[in-house]
Amino acid sequence: MLRPMKLGFLAATLLPATLLPSAGSAQVFYGDPPDAYHPWAIHDQNRPKPKLVTPGTFSSVEKAGVPPSDAIILFDGSDLSKWKSGKDGGGPAKWIVRDGYMEANPGTGDIMTTEEFGDCQLHVEWAAPSKVEGSSQGRGNSGVFLMGICELQVLDNYDNPTYADGYAGSVYGVNPPMANALRPPGQFQVYDIVFRRPIFRDGKMLDPGYVTAFINGVLVQDATPLEGPTGHMRRTTPGPFPAKGPLKLQDHGNTTRFRNIWYRPLPPRSIEGGTDGVLTTEAAMAKRQEIAASIREDAAKLTNPSNPVPQMLRLFESLIYADNHAARQQAEKMAADYTTALKQLPEDRLPGKKDEVKRLQSVFDYLSRNKIVPAGFAPKSEIDAMVKQQRWDKK
Ligand code: MG
Repeated sequence: MLRPMKLGFLAATLLPATLLPSAGSAQVFYGDPPDAYHPWAIHDQNRPKPKLVTPGTFSSVEKAGVPPSDAIILFDGSDLSKWKSGKDGGGPAKWIVRDGYMEANPGTGDIMTTEEFGDCQLHVEWAAPSKVEGSSQGRGNSGVFLMGICELQVLDNYDNPTYADGYAGSVYGVNPPMANALRPPGQFQVYDIVFRRPIFRDGKMLDPGYVTAFINGVLVQDATPLEGPTGHMRRTTPGPFPAKGPLKLQDHGNTTRFRNIWYRPLPPRSIEGGTDGVLTTEAAMAKRQEIAASIREDAAKLTNPSNPVPQMLRLFESLIYADNHAARQQAEKMAADYTTALKQLPEDRLPGKKDEVKRLQSVFDYLSRNKIVPAGFAPKSEIDAMVKQQRWDKK
C-alpha cells in the first residue's frame, strides 16, 4: 500500500488534487509522539501490523469446529501422537481414541503433551460421561492443567453441586467460576482459555500471571491472578513458573471425553521484551532507538535530488523516536535548502507547490508542537510566511 505521506509529495506532479490525502488524514506526523513508556506514536504507521489469521469455525454440540489458521493442533480427533502418559516415565498415552474424540481410561493415569509451551490461547472441548454416576467431585471429573501445574477444573456440574472453588471452570481451589454454564452430561462443552504465566525476577513478582476462561462462550474467569500451582486441600503460594510446560489432562477415574484441542502462543508481554503496552523507560528508549535507526536506514534509500522532500521527511520522522546528530543536521539542511529554493521559485510556479507546502507546514507544526525541532525553527517560520503571503490558509 502506498504510504499517505509519500503519496502527498508525489501528488503535485502525478495525481489530481482530489486524490491528495488531506494533511489531517496522512497518519505520519499525526498522533501524539512516543514518550518515556511507549515507543510508538499514537496511530503509528511504523508499528507492526497485526498478523493475518484465517478464522476457523465454531463448534456445535454435535460437531467440532475448525481451528484458526495459526493454531497448533494438539488433538484433532485422530490419534494421541502428540501426547504421552503422565506416569511410567512418559510412555505412550493409554487413553482411548474413537469417533473423533479421546476418552480418559481410568487407572492409566494423566496424559500430557510432548510439546511444552507457556502463555497461550487454549481451546479444549470435553464431555462428561452421559451415564451419570457419582456426585460432587466424583462425577465426570477431569482437569485441564496449564503447564501441567495449574488446573482449570473439568467436572459434570449439571445438576451436581460441589464446593464453589471446585466447579467446572474454577481455578481449582483458588477461584470459583463466575457462572455455571454447563450443558448436560454427554454433550461436548467448550473451554476457551487465555493464560499468562507468572513472572518473577530475582525473587520478586513482576506479574502474578492470569487466567481468563469461557465455558460455552460464557465468561467464567476474568483475568484471575494466579496464586501458584493449584492443589487439593492446601492453600497455594505464589511462585515462579518455568518458561514452559506441557498441557496435562487428568485421569480422575471418570471416562471424560475430549476433542478439538489446540492453542495459539501469545506474544510476550512488555515485561518480557514485548513492545506493546506500558514499557519501562529503559525498554521504551531502547526500542525508540531501534525504530529511529530503521527509519534512518529507509531514509538513506530515498536520495533523490529532483525530489528531496520524501527523504527529508523520513529523516525528520526518525527524530520523533530518537535524536541523532547526523540525521538532524541533514534534515535541517534539507529543510533550509527547500525553503531557499521555494523563495526563488518564479511566482507562476508557486500555485503548483501549494499542497506540498501546506503539507510541510503541518509537518513542521507537528515537529515544533512536540518539541522535535526548536521553537523558532527557521524553515517553519518561512513556510508559515509563504502560506500566509499566498493566502493558502484561506479557503
Ligand atoms: Mg479435576
